[in-house]
Amino acid sequence: MIYDQNNIFAKILRGEMPCEKLYEDDHTLAFMDIMPQADGHCLVIPKNPSTGLMDADPQVFASLFSTVQKIARAAQDGMQADGVTIMQFNGAAAGQTVFHLHVHILPRKDGVPLKAHSGQMEKSEIIKANAEKIRSAISS
Ligand code: AMP
Repeated sequence: MIYDQNNIFAKILRGEMPCEKLYEDDHTLAFMDIMPQADGHCLVIPKNPSTGLMDADPQVFASLFSTVQKIARAAQDGMQADGVTIMQFNGAAAGQTVFHLHVHILPRKDGVPLKAHSGQMEKSEIIKANAEKIRSAISS
């Protein structure tokens, strides 16, 4: 599959679409998912373009997963979660809907099932409140 420069996450990276940003460095961006499957659901993307894992430059993985770890820790602490699920989809058949490599971070509470993937839009005030909890737990 050819990388589409106009996918939603490419537009977010170029500042052409808004996002509720959690963290950014030279190589990665973390922001809230607008259709969360769990409270505090967020995403980490590399700035380097690839549609998914298969066509990514392996050199992006160190910085990508360094940020995944940083944000997963903050999501667990900030959301007072009991655990964190990490998900990553490749191809429409696997459930991928946005074709720029991304890693899902889902704070989990004991006994609370995940909601549907790409289901319902969350109210922006709830996303902002959860983002604030996660941001305040990010360690430098
Ligand atoms: P996937 O199905 O793995 O490609 O995941 C794409 C994710 O992006 C889904 O969880 C969507 O809810 C989420 N999403 C789609 N559009 C946006 C957006 N504009 N800002 C934040 N998250 C988004």
